[in-house]
Amino acid sequence: MHVTPLEDWIIERTHLAHKSQEALRAYQLEKLMHTLAYAKDKSRFYNEKLKETDLNSITSLGDFEQIPFTKPSDIKHNAHDFLCVSAHEVERIVTLNTSGTTGDEKRIFFTHEDLEETIDFFQYGMNCLVEKGDKVMVLLPGSSYGSIGDLLKKALLRSNIECVVHGLLQDIEKVAACIEEQHINCIVGIPMQVRYLSLMKPELFERHIQKVLLSTDYVPDALVKTLSRNGTCKVFNHYGMTEMGYGGGVECECLNGYHLRENHLYFEIIDPETGKLVRDGEYGEVVFTTLNRQAMPLIRYKTGDIARFVTKPCGCGTFLRTMEKVRGRMENKVNIKGHEVHLKDLDEIILNYDAVMDYSAQCYEEKALHVRLIVSKTADIQALQKALYQAIDAHFKGVLRLSIDFKEDDGSSKITNSMIKRKLHIGKMEIRV
Ligand SMILES: [Zn+2]
Repeated sequence: MHVTPLEDWIIERTHLAHKSQEALRAYQLEKLMHTLAYAKDKSRFYNEKLKETDLNSITSLGDFEQIPFTKPSDIKHNAHDFLCVSAHEVERIVTLNTSGTTGDEKRIFFTHEDLEETIDFFQYGMNCLVEKGDKVMVLLPGSSYGSIGDLLKKALLRSNIECVVHGLLQDIEKVAACIEEQHINCIVGIPMQVRYLSLMKPELFERHIQKVLLSTDYVPDALVKTLSRNGTCKVFNHYGMTEMGYGGGVECECLNGYHLRENHLYFEIIDPETGKLVRDGEYGEVVFTTLNRQAMPLIRYKTGDIARFVTKPCGCGTFLRTMEKVRGRMENKVNIKGHEVHLKDLDEIILNYDAVMDYSAQCYEEKALHVRLIVSKTADIQALQKALYQAIDAHFKGVLRLSIDFKEDDGSSKITNSMIKRKLHIGKMEIRV
C-alpha cells in the first residue's frame, strides 16, 4: 500500500517541519487568521458579518469555533459582496443553479491563482489512482476555460498522462467507440452516469476500464459494488464542490474514505442543530473554510453534506486525517413517525439490482413512498417488484406505504437530472377528488 500522494504534496507546499497533526493544525490556524483578516478587510459580506468580532481574540482553533457560519443562501443573495478582488482579476465565474428557479443562482468567482491551486490539487490527487501509461476519459463538462474538465486535463498533462475530456455522458455509442479507439483505461465521471455506462456496456469494463474516479455526487456502496465487478475495477471517490474550488479530498488505495486538501481547506464537522463541533467518529454536517482563496474566500461554509471523521489511522499509513465517504445531503431525508427515510437507504436497496437503470423517489407526509424505476428492457419486472417490496418493507419495518411503478429504459435516462444530482423529493400528497 502506498501512502497517499497528498501527504508529500501537503508537506512540500506547507513546509511543515514534521509529519504531525499538530504541525498541520498550527499551519491551518495561521492561515485561518490570515483569511479572517483578509476577508473582513476586502469583502463587503465579511466586513459586515465579522463587524462585532475582534480578530485579535482568535488565537486558537477553539476560538475559531465562535466565528459565524456562511450559508449557501448568503451567496445566492449577494455573491458580489463576497468578492475580494477587482473584476478584472476574476478569471472564471461559475454559476450554479441547483433548483432550476431563476434568481436562485449562486455565483462563485476564481482568480488565476485560485484556479492554479485547483490544478495543483488535481495533479497530486489524480496520482492516487493514475500512473504513467494510463489513459483517462473525463465524463464531466470541460469545454470552457476553467471548467472542471479543463482543469483536470491541465493537471494530468503536468504528469504526462493522456486525457480525453468528453463532457457529460449523452451518447453511449460514441463514448464506447472512443474508449475502444483511444485505449482508455480510467474514467472520471458522475456516479449514476458511470454506473449506467457499465450496465449498458459491460464489455468495456471487462476489456478496458480498470479504474474509475467518481465525483460531484455522493456515492452509495451498492453503486461501488456494481462498478468494481468483484474487484477487477478499482473505484475511487472524490469529494468536492465548486465552492471548495471543485476539489476537496480523494481516496487513497485503501478506498476507505478521503484524505483532504488540508493545505487549502480547513474542514470541521458540526452538529447541525447546535452548531457545535461533533467528536471524531460522530456524524454531522461538513463545514469548510478556504485558506488561500483570493477572489472569494469562504469562512465556515455549510455544505449540507453528512459525513464523519474516521478515528482509526488509514491503512496507507499517512498522518493526514481521513473523512469517511459522504453519506448524502441533509435535505434528502425525511422523518416519518420516528423513522428516518434517507435517500441513501433507498439507494443501498434499489441500486443492488442491475436491472434498475435509474430511479426517482418521492416521499409524502402521509407516510407514503412512491418509487419510479427506469428498468432495462430485459428486466423481469414481476420478480423485481416482489423483491423490492420485500426489501424496502423489511428495512422500514412497514411504516411506509409503498408504491412502485416501472418504465422501460428508452435510452434517455442517462441524461436525466436525477442521474446528475439525485434527490429525495419530499412533498404533500396530492388530494384527488
Ligand atoms: Zn490512506
